Amino acid sequence: MSLSEQYAASLSAETVVVAAGRPARERDEPVNPPIVLSSTYFGTGALGDGDRGYGRYSNPTWDPFEEALGQLEGSELPGLLYASGLAAVSSALSLLPAGGVLVMPSHSYAGSLVMATELAQKGFLELRTVDITDTDAVKAQLAPQGPDAKAARMLWLESPTNPMLGIADIRELTAAAHRVGAIVVTDNTFSTPLVQQPLSLGSDVVLHSVTKYLAGHSDVVLGALVTSNPDIRAALLHHRIIHGGIAGPFEAWLALRGLRTLALRVERSQASAAVLAERLSKHPLIDSIRFPGLPTDPGHERAKTQMSGFGSIVCVQIAPVAGLSGADAADKLVRALQLWLPATSLGGVESLIERRRRHAAEPLSVPDNLVRLSVGIENIEDLWADLKQALDSLGG
Ligand SMILES: *Cc1c(COP(=O)(O)O)cnc(C)c1O
Repeated sequence: MSLSEQYAASLSAETVVVAAGRPARERDEPVNPPIVLSSTYFGTGALGDGDRGYGRYSNPTWDPFEEALGQLEGSELPGLLYASGLAAVSSALSLLPAGGVLVMPSHSYAGSLVMATELAQKGFLELRTVDITDTDAVKAQLAPQGPDAKAARMLWLESPTNPMLGIADIRELTAAAHRVGAIVVTDNTFSTPLVQQPLSLGSDVVLHSVTKYLAGHSDVVLGALVTSNPDIRAALLHHRIIHGGIAGPFEAWLALRGLRTLALRVERSQASAAVLAERLSKHPLIDSIRFPGLPTDPGHERAKTQMSGFGSIVCVQIAPVAGLSGADAADKLVRALQLWLPATSLGGVESLIERRRRHAAEPLSVPDNLVRLSVGIENIEDLWADLKQALDSLGG
């Protein structure tokens, strides 16, 4: 890195996203890192830890993003990029010993839940799902249970959860997990390191779907893990090399380019989400709303103790109207929008909207009339006007 370590450590996160991971400040060096496409590197003699060796072991295009993300999450070690968020989930789950107990939020990201469920069905792990907002229930699942009195070996946290926006008490649950000897992985995709830093709350590993806010333009699929424990990092790196879930150099380069504007994007989309949540909460066709920034939200007080903002995902349940069920009204609403894009995913510059239960894998405990809004960076009045015309078009 071109900045001295001491100076870099003094910078705020808004500056780090712009300044980290630049080439050395030497005459005629490029200001932005280049894309390196080579699958192999010159070398003779024994291959050591510092050697690049081969394109599955390392790629210089990954380094600036990994350095920046490590710093943003408060680790002295660089993060690790993966081919997707789920490749990162797979690598993180590999830290669990065979047959070990995994405690996971019942409203985790659906892909993470499907992976854990399938691994459990094959006997690779034992899965205990739990309402992550209920601290006592989580502690009960962490504790020894069953004929062999097995305690948890890994606690999976996601907060806010996708799409129920449940807030876990990360500090308290992490401490409880450590007391029974479990390691803690926190999926921080919804918050980004600008809003929540799970390592500082005690988590051992932080996970991102880089696809979402970090890359931020809905044109890249990538994942990442960050830890400040060198042994855990070495195990994860080994898993990445041997299982092969590596990032393509183009995607890594695009992710760094996206990261440069993260602070501006998060600031704008969080501010807009707060305004939209407030306005939506007063609309007669909104049956219920989830947004941790609303003082009436069950997660509001807890969110304030561990997040510096409330994110930019808002979930609403649509009331039945004019002979339509809530789910049908929700589908009609999504189709009536002109500016909001009807599509899955989140965290891009463009505002996206989706009725979550259109996915067969979505847990049935997610209400069928629940619509998830990922607020982008468009003009707030344009976003509201489009929502309002679509809601008004439902009649009622
Ligand atoms: C999208 C998402 C993932 C999975 O990431 P991919 O990049 O799609 O593989 C994991 N966790 C959360 C919270 C997500 O939103």
